[in-house]
Amino acid sequence: MIEFEYQTLPWNIVFGAGALARLPGELDKLGMKRALVLTTPNQTDSGETVLDLLDDRAAGLFDQCVMHVPQQTVTAASVRARELGADCTVALGGGSTTGLGKALAVQMNLPNIVIPTSYAGSEMTNIWAITDEGRKVTARDNEAVPTLTLYDPELTLTLPPKFAAASGLNAMAQAVVNIATDKVNPIVSCLAVDAVRSLYESLPVIMDKPDDMEARSKALYGACLAGGALGTGATSLHHKICHTMGGTFNMPHAETHAVILPHSVAYNTAATPEGSARLAEAMRANNAADAIYDLMKKLGLPLGLKDLGFSEAEIDKAAEITLENSFHNAEPVSFERLRTLLQNAYEGVPPQAIT
Ligand code: NAD
Repeated sequence: MIEFEYQTLPWNIVFGAGALARLPGELDKLGMKRALVLTTPNQTDSGETVLDLLDDRAAGLFDQCVMHVPQQTVTAASVRARELGADCTVALGGGSTTGLGKALAVQMNLPNIVIPTSYAGSEMTNIWAITDEGRKVTARDNEAVPTLTLYDPELTLTLPPKFAAASGLNAMAQAVVNIATDKVNPIVSCLAVDAVRSLYESLPVIMDKPDDMEARSKALYGACLAGGALGTGATSLHHKICHTMGGTFNMPHAETHAVILPHSVAYNTAATPEGSARLAEAMRANNAADAIYDLMKKLGLPLGLKDLGFSEAEIDKAAEITLENSFHNAEPVSFERLRTLLQNAYEGVPPQAIT
């Protein structure tokens, strides 16, 4: 018998190659007149292109976005937004840039337009985060959902294939944890299955042919759906581990999600038979965790936390912090079992069930 609850989010999306050119007209439709453009220092040039495109609708540029949205960055950006009299932000970049736009939307009530250039998927969720004193705190608030998300796959052509692969696995994680659950939600699962299929099919093509627009478009579409699954689904052990890794150990977000994913899927497979089977089917495989691990090898991604610079001596601390707050997970979690998962992820061995 089918039984579920589902609340959607106030998504407003424009998707298509060349869609960036529509930005000025879309701002006019929204009645926005002074946009503060947000980027990381790596994407200052792209930010300046947006300033030119917006012409007198641009208030200025804040190009100091960094990963995990430190409180100091939010404070600096909000001072700049006030000084410039900005009436909205236009965040062009990956999840770090989107994250700052979301934090300003919640804290300053500043409408946020997002132009995603990686596959983080954050633009489709109402989850916002700030990192202060070594702890990353996340919350859900619909005010964080972008007023408009403008997806232009052409902007992802500059995403280096290696980071595209890691970012794609990050997107896959959003989808995966929302199919492989003990309470399968049929609508979230539709988003998640198509996300996993799109990413699984497009990422190897991007590695071989970085300029393949069809594959770039399909991967960005997959990321959009994956973010939708995360935004309207639930997080569990996988995300708790990755938040600890990011907030406390400053580990790279996308690569850490990738390394943890096969292990968190293997951990939950027995407790999530229906979801795990659908996930495997989307990748035309028998076992989802193995398929993800094999995909990572094919993409040449780092397989272990040790390859990302994580110290083995920190495994206990990471397990303790992950368990500090309660969370839902299909398979019960204990310190010992989590420690084993982290040890396996540290070494990058093939994923396995942990009893
Ligand atoms: P990122 O935004 O930090 O980007 C990594 C680097 O790649 C940056 O220097 C960025 O400027 C550059 N980059 C991005 N797109 C590029 C492109 N097309 N061409 C060239 N360079 C490009 O990394 P990320 O993995 O996209 O995002 C990670 C952050 O997003 C983390 O802080 C994470 O917590 C957050 N996130 C939040 C959610 C949510 O729902 N709240 C979901 C996913 C990720």
